[in-house]
Amino acid sequence: MYKEPIFLKPEFKERIWGGTKLKEIFNYEIPSEQTGECWGISGHTNGPNIIINGPLAGRRLDDAWKEHRELFANEQGDEFPLLVKILDSKKDLSVQVHPDDSYAREVENENYGKTECWYVIDCEEGSEIIFGHHAKSKDELAAMVENGEWDQLLRRVSVNPGDFFYVPSGTIHAIGEGIQILETQQSSDITYRVYDYDRVGADGNKRELHLDRSLDVTSVPHKDPKLSRDSYLEAGLRFEKLVEEEYFTVHHWDLDGKSNELYPKKYTLVSVLNGEGLVHVDTREYKFKKGDHFIIPATIENFTVSGRAQMITSHSNK
Ligand code: ZN
Repeated sequence: MYKEPIFLKPEFKERIWGGTKLKEIFNYEIPSEQTGECWGISGHTNGPNIIINGPLAGRRLDDAWKEHRELFANEQGDEFPLLVKILDSKKDLSVQVHPDDSYAREVENENYGKTECWYVIDCEEGSEIIFGHHAKSKDELAAMVENGEWDQLLRRVSVNPGDFFYVPSGTIHAIGEGIQILETQQSSDITYRVYDYDRVGADGNKRELHLDRSLDVTSVPHKDPKLSRDSYLEAGLRFEKLVEEEYFTVHHWDLDGKSNELYPKKYTLVSVLNGEGLVHVDTREYKFKKGDHFIIPATIENFTVSGRAQMITSHSNK
């Protein structure tokens, strides 16, 4: 039986909007000073993680998903369902929207659309995101996009460390400059760009927009999701539920001491934002520290954690 946490080697993505905070905050070895994304838990073909330890060391997470489904509670599906990233936006990201599963299947021939959520790790004072829009109908949305009335259309929201945003498919959104977030999302890379601030790239050209598909998939009118963020303390671990929805449940874990025995329903994804500690499985211990990403497989029926650390954890609801 597979009885150890599965630690993963992060994958990094250079982006025109990326910076150096992934190194400054997490001490990651980033490929350049324009590093935008750390893919911490990924089975996606555009950046699958290599397993670091245990019987599957050196294998890819997507191979483990295909060949050892018992580690994942025998969940159905061709692809590992979730993707956990840490993003560093030195500059504004383009304004974008993602399709839902049925549109992704029909139009893109992909399995998953993209519902995502963000936990704000840190940000500069006065940072903002774009979250939703002010159009009341599809016609009004189309007209405002056509006329470039971005200031009137786009809804700006200020952000602070510790904030959490749930971004269902169909929500127009953009991460503004100076923000580091942990993103938990469906494992999809389909993005429709609505507006790119009329920026030109190194080649002198503007990046491509996808206006027809954006208009197809955008929810109108925008509705702000209601989140309750209930939390409870049990022994040395405070659990805060950030969101529970169709695809995933995401928690913030604040560890100070030792937890009670935990009996997860399925496999658990863990990303360590701060501090360090141990996972205890039977009589064995596995060290974790800030910047680590690992999965507690479903074959570990119970475990405890100890130490001082803040983590974002999630599981699939499929
Ligand atoms: Zn997005």
